[in-house]
Amino acid sequence: MSARKWNFGAGPAMIPLPVLKRAQSEFLDYDSTGLSIMELSHRSDTYEALNNRAQVQLRQLLNIPENYKIIFMQGGGHTQFAAVVYNLIAWRHRQNKQNNVGSGDWKDIPVDYVVTGSWSAKAVEEAKRLGANVRVICDAKKALGGFKGVPEESTWKTSDPQGELRTADRASGQTPAYLYYCDNETVNGVEFPFVPSLQDPAVPVVCDMSSNILSRPVDVSKFGVIYAGAQKNIGPAGVSVVIVREDLLQTSELSDGLLPIPLMLDYKTMAKNNSLYNTPPMFAIYISSLVFEWLLDSAAQRVQDGEAYQDGKNLIGVEAAAARNERKASKLYKALEESKFCRIVVTDKQSRSKMNIPFRISKAPKNDPNAVPNKAEDEAMEAAFVQQAEARGLLQLAGHRSVGGIRASIYNAMPEEGVDVLIAFLKEFEAQY
Ligand code: PMP
Repeated sequence: MSARKWNFGAGPAMIPLPVLKRAQSEFLDYDSTGLSIMELSHRSDTYEALNNRAQVQLRQLLNIPENYKIIFMQGGGHTQFAAVVYNLIAWRHRQNKQNNVGSGDWKDIPVDYVVTGSWSAKAVEEAKRLGANVRVICDAKKALGGFKGVPEESTWKTSDPQGELRTADRASGQTPAYLYYCDNETVNGVEFPFVPSLQDPAVPVVCDMSSNILSRPVDVSKFGVIYAGAQKNIGPAGVSVVIVREDLLQTSELSDGLLPIPLMLDYKTMAKNNSLYNTPPMFAIYISSLVFEWLLDSAAQRVQDGEAYQDGKNLIGVEAAAARNERKASKLYKALEESKFCRIVVTDKQSRSKMNIPFRISKAPKNDPNAVPNKAEDEAMEAAFVQQAEARGLLQLAGHRSVGGIRASIYNAMPEEGVDVLIAFLKEFEAQY
């Protein structure tokens, strides 16, 4: 590991070393074909076997029920912001038609969003840009005075334990096409400590899990659609994983008065063609499959932590990853809490992300509410922190350009040793002042 540095970037992020080595060893000759994986035909049996294997592995890792399709798409998370709008409005439109409710105009169908950080806010922007009838039913910035946590579900606007609103919605054909949220806000470090459950069960839950998929077990059956760009916890940029409940693929067509779904965004087309409608990003899917294999092999995860990880010995797959992530995040949060200068951005402890940990550095005394921070001095200190960290091989610790500060991203592939090195550096940095 000596020549390799610790990458704390939010994505593209670290890939497990055994995966990189394996890819290196197979680079020129994949599966005795005499060709690199990148040179194979995507219509070959060899590639189809890989495509299927990746799905089987992911299904096993997340315990994905049979009535869900797994699809591989391109275009990253941003493409899914749009794909969700097209596909689920077309699904709800068809439902309304069959039940003879609603105006028939897709623009009247509401879509509900919970905004807990900048990625869900961006998803809202895209849905609005496409002309959807967007309802922001919870805005954490307004509710909490900043993206500092997840507001309780009972405070969301359409939460309606009595069901009155639901009944009214149904009768007028106003049942939303979906409820959307982002499980882990990569920029802001806010992670959901729960799956929404008070909402109308007739409304599929759509979840962006780009930055925490496979970091902890998830009950897929609670969701309509889960999607994730690969470049954080899965593999290289270029592929996104979409897990979609089969019945949601029944969508209206152009002849029903809808804009057609662009083929490359159409979940139905992708699912029907086993993600082989067009040329898929084969290399990215290949590396993803190696990462899935690494995750399925819990012993490999332990080796990554130098076998130090005794308490999780009997755990497998994503559960083992979750236990490792819990350990890594809790030791880093503890160090930050104990530090004189570091302030954790997310104040709601329950909603603190285990993947992306943003913090600020300030000389102003932590426990004095009247202390006035010196912004210029603090920012200079943060810049020095990032620079000195880099010199020690701790890379990409600067916070997202929209918010500044520091952010440590510690996905599955970050060994516990990397977190230990960061904590040691934190202490060393502080001792200078
Ligand atoms: N959602 C989340 C949670 C993200 O972290 C990101 C990217 N950092 C995106 C969506 C957008 O992904 P992409 O850059 O692949 O479009």
